[in-house]
Amino acid sequence: MTSTAPAFTASDIHSLNGRFETADPREIVCWAFDTFGSGVSIGASFGGASGMAILHMAGAVDPGVHVFVLDTGYLFEETLETMRRAVAQLGLSHVQVYRSLLSHEEQAEKYGSALWMRDPDLCCELRKVEPNRRALAGKTAWLSGLRRDQSEGRADTPIVSWSGRFGLLKVNPLATWTEKQTWAYLAGHGVPYNPLLDQGYTSIGCYNCTVPGKQGRQGRWEGFAKDECGLHSE
Ligand code: SF4
Repeated sequence: MTSTAPAFTASDIHSLNGRFETADPREIVCWAFDTFGSGVSIGASFGGASGMAILHMAGAVDPGVHVFVLDTGYLFEETLETMRRAVAQLGLSHVQVYRSLLSHEEQAEKYGSALWMRDPDLCCELRKVEPNRRALAGKTAWLSGLRRDQSEGRADTPIVSWSGRFGLLKVNPLATWTEKQTWAYLAGHGVPYNPLLDQGYTSIGCYNCTVPGKQGRQGRWEGFAKDECGLHSE
C-alpha cells in the first residue's frame, strides 16, 4: 500500500531528535504509528537482540504492521527458526519475505562464484539493498533497531533521519539504548531471540560472512574493511 508521507523539514527532524533523545523507545514507536499509520515498515533480520525488541514494541501497538525479511538464501537455519517462532509468538500478521532478483546460480553465472569472498559490497547490493528498496517502496517510515553502541560507525546514529536513499523517514527508537538495556527488555517481556546469540555470535547475518567470538559487529565480513551491508549507509 502506498502511503502519503507527512512533510518533514531539516528543522523538524532536528527538533524531533532533541525531543526523543531521552524518550523511552516505546514512546518513539507510538509516535511513528500515530504519525505514519500504515506507512510504517520494519526490516527484521531475526539476528540481533535490538531488532527483536523493536518487533515486540511495534507488534504490541499494531500486530498488522508491515514487517519485511531480506532472505539472501544464506541465512542460518537458527535465524529462519527464530523468524517462525517470533512471528507466531508476537502475532505478526503482515510479514513479507523479499529475495534477490538473481538466484544463487544466476549470480554465480553473472559475477562468478562466491562473490561474497571477492566483492561483498556487490553481493550485499544484489541480495540485500535492492530487495530492501522494493520492500520499502510506497512506505513512509522505516523502523530499525540500530543502536549507537553497536559499532564505531553507528556511534552517531540519529533517532530520526531522512533516508534519501530509500525516500522515507528512518526511525531508530533504540539508538540511545545499550546492549544491557536491550537484553533486559527481551528478558522482561519474554521476547524470543536467535539462539546463536548464546553461542558466541554477537551479530548475525549470512552464514558466509558471520563468525562467532568477536565483539559487536566485528564478526561480520572478516578480512574486509566492512561492517555494514549497505542498508544503513546514506
Ligand atoms: S552478508 Fe555476505 S553473503 Fe550475505 S549478501 Fe552480504 S556479502 Fe552476500
